[in-house]
Amino acid sequence: MKYSANSVWENKDQYDIAVIGAGHAGCEAALACARLGLKTMIFTVSVDSIALMPCNPNIGGSSKGHLVRELDALGGEMGKVIDRTFIQSKMLNKSKGPAVHSLRAQADKAFYSRTMRQVLESQKNLDIKQMEVTDILAEDGKITGVQTYSGAIYPCKAVVLCTGTYLRARCIYGEVSTQTGPNGLQPANHLTSSLEKLGIQMYRFKTGTPARIDKNSIDFSKMEEQFGDEHVQPFSFTTDPDDVQIAQTSCWLTYTNETTHEIIRANLDRSPLYSGMIEGTGPRYCPSIEDKVVKFADKNRHQVFIEPEGLNTNEMYVGGMSSSLPEDVQYAMYRSVPGLEHAKIVRNGYAIEYDCIDARQLNATLEFKEISGLFSGGQFNGSSGYEEAAAQGLIAGINAAKKVRGEEMLVLDRSEAYIGVLIDDLVTKESHEPYRMMTSRAEYRLLLRQDNADQRLTRIGYRIGLIDQNRYQKLIEKEKMIKEEMERLEHIHMGTSDEVQKLLEECGSTPLTSGISLTELIRRPELSYEAVKSIDKTRQPLPREVIEQININIKYAGYIARQQRQVEQFKKMETKRIPENIDYNEIKSLRIEAKQKLSEIKPLSVGQASRISGVSPADISVLLVHMEQFR
Ligand SMILES: Cc1cc2nc3c(=O)[nH]c(=O)nc-3n(C[C@H](O)[C@H](O)[C@H](O)COP(=O)(O)OP(=O)(O)OC[C@H]3O[C@@H](n4cnc5c(N)ncnc54)[C@H](O)[C@@H]3O)c2cc1C
Repeated sequence: MKYSANSVWENKDQYDIAVIGAGHAGCEAALACARLGLKTMIFTVSVDSIALMPCNPNIGGSSKGHLVRELDALGGEMGKVIDRTFIQSKMLNKSKGPAVHSLRAQADKAFYSRTMRQVLESQKNLDIKQMEVTDILAEDGKITGVQTYSGAIYPCKAVVLCTGTYLRARCIYGEVSTQTGPNGLQPANHLTSSLEKLGIQMYRFKTGTPARIDKNSIDFSKMEEQFGDEHVQPFSFTTDPDDVQIAQTSCWLTYTNETTHEIIRANLDRSPLYSGMIEGTGPRYCPSIEDKVVKFADKNRHQVFIEPEGLNTNEMYVGGMSSSLPEDVQYAMYRSVPGLEHAKIVRNGYAIEYDCIDARQLNATLEFKEISGLFSGGQFNGSSGYEEAAAQGLIAGINAAKKVRGEEMLVLDRSEAYIGVLIDDLVTKESHEPYRMMTSRAEYRLLLRQDNADQRLTRIGYRIGLIDQNRYQKLIEKEKMIKEEMERLEHIHMGTSDEVQKLLEECGSTPLTSGISLTELIRRPELSYEAVKSIDKTRQPLPREVIEQININIKYAGYIARQQRQVEQFKKMETKRIPENIDYNEIKSLRIEAKQKLSEIKPLSVGQASRISGVSPADISVLLVHMEQFR
């Protein structure tokens, strides 16, 4: 059979869903679609860069650890892969309350990427293609397929865009600028114009990364060694804790100094950030060292964390010194830091600019409001970070699958998950810089802890079909153990026996004057479930994670109850749906700015409307009155 020479041809292999991108968002999206039974194709410009970590070699950290545990509780993959490829692990903020405890693990980057690739390759219903997608095809506002650089057309019913930092990517340091993606990979230069033709507004954002230094050129004796936790807690609720008690590598802490800052100040005119060479907007919460020296001029030193990129490489990541200063300045700057005096730079620090979208063009399902069947997740939505990307990818993938199956799509609200906070902020609030998750963004953070993500979300994962019966059963059993033990403790009364008084004295706790329940005792700050073991005669051994829940539920009972009451208030406004065909311009007493913002964003609920910047509480009252009359 002779095939025609024209450049466009239709690939007859039937696919339901095309996922554009095999980064942290694309991997989760494609796995969710394939695991929900949809024939899925995942595209990437390089199969050797699947789940690449182009920046920091770690997963998790403050609030990001919460996202990974929530993603795992819903049936996502990142938590399982990092549990198999981490080289150091730490629970952050342990000295603070459980709401901000956050897991962070150093990853062996190459091993992480290889492992995620194996997961994709062994996934039924999923094919992988190394090819740049250049066009999104749609008719009458509905997706029909994608077209690639080679001219191949792949008809499909839904598309998930997870293009990360590759769209019209440009890498810059000093006067040097290259049209490349991260790590010198090929950029994707054609898709932006296709998206603009579909009426999608694009933003230009930027982010940056530090140099990588050869470990043999570092003098670690001038740094503080940073160790992992003695007892490691896994990210995934499916990982057996015994499997993660491994020998860990160290990270190292050093500091910049006045010399470093002087070198930077003296060369700011050559910084593309300050010379105007960079047009994209960068993340405020991941500042470059140049920004830190300028913005925090009163600080005489900044922390620098030297982190291994993996077990089989000499490359060390210089955390805290992301920079796009010229190469010669980078050598001088890094070599001014104690321990780096003879640093050999393997890869220069650089900034990268890329195209992404204003996510207010999306519904909370991560589907475009104006193009049915087109979804998106990750850095493309204006966020920053592997964890933020993976969380969005999972939700976008689940909803693309549900769209194709004609089922109701999933929206997690701000009281259910950090993922709900992340997506609601992205699709509701105006943002002109990459969005990074933080615990302070979650108003109900005492309920959204990393330790109870399974109790909040695994039922939803089971209902969707990403969590199997066995895992669901394990959750039920865990909750039963927690409930029964809480009830047992409530009904055990401790008298003022010598044994009890002796224990209280040993723990520096006030002696009892009359009998109280064990629950009351455990509630005392200086006591805990473990501390009262010797006087609790009928206790049965319980798993570590069950004991953790019992301690938190008892000690924070009052705060948790108060936050639950706040959530009830929140839910009232969140469930007040706004009619789809409402015309805000008809509402006379609504302020002009509010009319504009509400018409632009088309909020689904009064709760979402109240979070739009430029919409005042008075506007919300006017809207509520109008809806009442309308009803
Ligand atoms: C230099 C640099 C510095 C960074 N610094 C930070 C930081 O300081 N803090 C932080 O939180 N995050 C940082 N990040 C961001 C972090 O890497 C990303 O957040 C994360 O990788 C985003 O994941 P993603 O899945 O959205 O996209 P990526 O991981 O970028 O993956 C995108 C995928 O899409 C594919 N692709 C793109 N376009 C096409 C196309 N048209 N056709 C086919 N395939 C396509 C690519 O091949 C790739 O597989 C940095 C990233 C870079 C590159």
